[in-house]
Amino acid sequence: MASIAIVGDGPGGLSAALFLAKNGHDVTVYGTDQTAMNYAHLYNYLGIPEIPGTEFQSIAKKQISSFGARLAEEEVTSVTAGDRFELTTASETATADYLILTEGKKPELALSLDLDTDDSGAIVVDRDYRSSRERVYVVGRSARPERSQAIISAGAGATAAVDILAIEAGKNVQDWDTPPKE
Ligand SMILES: Cc1cc2nc3c(=O)[nH]c(=O)nc-3n(C[C@H](O)[C@H](O)[C@H](O)COP(=O)(O)OP(=O)(O)OC[C@H]3O[C@@H](n4cnc5c(N)ncnc54)[C@H](O)[C@@H]3O)c2cc1C
Repeated sequence: MASIAIVGDGPGGLSAALFLAKNGHDVTVYGTDQTAMNYAHLYNYLGIPEIPGTEFQSIAKKQISSFGARLAEEEVTSVTAGDRFELTTASETATADYLILTEGKKPELALSLDLDTDDSGAIVVDRDYRSSRERVYVVGRSARPERSQAIISAGAGATAAVDILAIEAGKNVQDWDTPPKE
């Protein structure tokens, strides 16, 4: 199983964590609950008629914890890339095989890794949210600062996670479930 460090606890990071932890990978999400979701009230998240952004976050965090993801309520102060990624917080230094950056509107760690940006300052990613550096994904608002929606960030996190699942499995992966038997 791979270890994946996810920087950012908004819908992009939590969605990536859900898919990866559900499939048995070792996942840590770093964040201090500073997400823009705490200012939002959602009427535009398909399948949920209406919900305060803070309540959405609370449900999502419980959901990923139930699949075994670890929530580290800390800011990542630096990250270095080598054979593995090394992340530093006030209380720990951790390593990971993959890095998913979902830093929101200020992608400081992405810039510290010299990831490619476009003319608008957005981090450049491909359709699986791979950045210009191997095993580094950038999802959500950091990759589309002027077109940011919760459901788009969640979809991006899921897309990046399924790409990692496929790489680790050595074949395409669909995380599909069927209804429980009566
Ligand atoms: C007032 C307002 C109302 C909104 N209303 C809606 C709405 O009705 N519907 C809708 O779809 N969207 C709405 N949005 C937008 C929505 O909140 C964003 O699209 C969504 O939060 C983006 O998710 P994300 O995961 O990409 O980034 P974010 O939610 O911004 O999450 C990024 C997280 O990463 C953390 N982080 C950054 N750097 C580090 C670090 N080094 N270490 C640890 N953590 C770090 C940040 O603190 C933050 O918690 C609204 C936004 C605002 C401001």
